[in-house]
Amino acid sequence: MLKVKNLSVHYGGMQALANVNIQVNEGEIVSIVGSNGAGKSTTINAISGLRKLTSGTIEFMGKDATAVEAHDRVPMGIVQVPEGRKLFPIMTVEENLLLGSSHPEARKVRNETLKEVYKLLPRLEERKKQISKTLSGGEQQMVAIGRALMSRPKLLMFDEPSLGLSPLLVQNLFSLIRQISSQGITIMLVEQNVKQTLQIVDRCYVLENGSISLEGTGQELLHNDHVKKAFLGM
Ligand code: ATP
Repeated sequence: MLKVKNLSVHYGGMQALANVNIQVNEGEIVSIVGSNGAGKSTTINAISGLRKLTSGTIEFMGKDATAVEAHDRVPMGIVQVPEGRKLFPIMTVEENLLLGSSHPEARKVRNETLKEVYKLLPRLEERKKQISKTLSGGEQQMVAIGRALMSRPKLLMFDEPSLGLSPLLVQNLFSLIRQISSQGITIMLVEQNVKQTLQIVDRCYVLENGSISLEGTGQELLHNDHVKKAFLGM
């Protein structure tokens, strides 16, 4: 579904990514893990079109998306739940959700999608008239996910969704991600929460200093000595 080939990104003179290759197959949950500054957000932003590439290509569902603008990647099915949620704070929950369905294809099925989102996240329906900034952190994360679902994603990418959530909410979040996956949406998950991530993913890439250092199934990496030492404190 997604083929990222030889992706390099610079910030001015600083190289943030060097020849990153990532492949995601339809229906998979794939994650990128790594420590602070490894280049995880840069990778996901390059895939969604928010960050310009120095070199490399991005192919999505057989089409070359490298030169496609970020807002035109959303109708193709590439949708991101941004780090830090990025809600419109003084708009209501429902207004934020509806903003997710602004491209014409999503707009056509807006009411049906909204019903599906409320079925998946009933708490949002209860709070649909509430101003977003008055919600708890966990609820705001749900709105950000609901808004992304309103865009009818084929590939849904999460950038550190567990940041700032309590352990119980992190558990709920991970089970929600599995639920979304079971509805046929392919998932790309960027996380620092390595242990829990490896437990739910099909495959994972480890990013270190801008390069992929390891890749494997979640189970393989959970038992990998380097991963254990570097990320699992073992
Ligand atoms: P974090 O978990 O801290 O967000 P990350 O793995 O997502 O880390 P990136 O945010 O992709 O890492 O950053 C990769 C490198 O690029 C880091 O060295 C970071 O300081 C640098 N960087 C990121 N954004 C910018 C920017 N806008 N301008 C300059 N350098 C940047």
